[in-house]
Amino acid sequence: MNNCLLCGQQFVPAVSLLQVFSWKKARMQCICTNCLAKFQRLKSPRCSTCAGELSQNGVCLDCQFWQRIYGPKLLQHHAIFRYNDAFHDLMVNYKRYGDYVLRAVLQELCYQELQLIAADYYVPVPTSSAHFNKRQFDTISAIYGDLVPLTEILVKKVDSGAQGEKNRRERLITPQSFGVKNKIHNLNRKKILLLDDIYTTGRTLYHARDALVAEFPTAKIESFSICR
Ligand SMILES: [Zn+2]
Ligand SMILES: [Zn+2]
Repeated sequence: MNNCLLCGQQFVPAVSLLQVFSWKKARMQCICTNCLAKFQRLKSPRCSTCAGELSQNGVCLDCQFWQRIYGPKLLQHHAIFRYNDAFHDLMVNYKRYGDYVLRAVLQELCYQELQLIAADYYVPVPTSSAHFNKRQFDTISAIYGDLVPLTEILVKKVDSGAQGEKNRRERLITPQSFGVKNKIHNLNRKKILLLDDIYTTGRTLYHARDALVAEFPTAKIESFSICR
């Protein structure tokens, strides 16, 4: 029996045959089926670039905005879930109240899909130092660090405020705040997967890519978030 990390109810974790015969240690299931059902997977049709849900096939309004800035060089993004009330509550508890334990829930929601995306380097989007000091952990690295090897080369140079507290227009006009903190790794010609928790307008991830491209012009960069 496990206790669900979200509702506290006891539940019996489902064990697949694959896990029984797997040499790898099975990941501990940490939320019950009721809670799991509250997270809704993104449904088709989806934007061919950022994975967002659409009413018909094509490119979403956000990506059309980025097309005007980046032309054909759009950021190919992978995402799994729709940002709904269940996610909102989870992220408030995780980020605003700094509940470190909840990273296990986020890991449970994304580890299978993340394994399917091969990359040479997995680069997390960094938290500002003010937020790090408040929570004592980096919210993105804490999710992904147990799942893939991280290359933490991006740094947030200036604090432009939390994206989560801004409206859409404020997000889009946020100035670049990322830089590359060391050049130990040469990312040129390598496949990079940028990691974030939520993709809202894409502003953060496009800035993260801009910072990497400035140092490594031939890196092949895609991005991943749990929610879109
Ligand atoms: Zn539950
Ligand atoms: Zn899109």
